[in-house]
Amino acid sequence: MGMKMVRVRQATCIRCNYAWLPRKPGRPTKCPGCFDGDWDKKRIYRKKGTGKKRAGKKGKKA
Ligand SMILES: [Zn+2]
Repeated sequence: MGMKMVRVRQATCIRCNYAWLPRKPGRPTKCPGCFDGDWDKKRIYRKKGTGKKRAGKKGKKA
């Protein structure tokens, strides 16, 4: 028994908040609302170093 669930994912543009149901499978190339190709890209926060110091120094006897 092979049941395939066809899921229709609602796409939401993070830029203009436009929500739509893409007809074609896969990722829509553009947002129909603002025609932006980066509609699903989340902001990437670059984290700076948390200030962790490497504690790799082990007392070696010279
Ligand atoms: Zn949009």
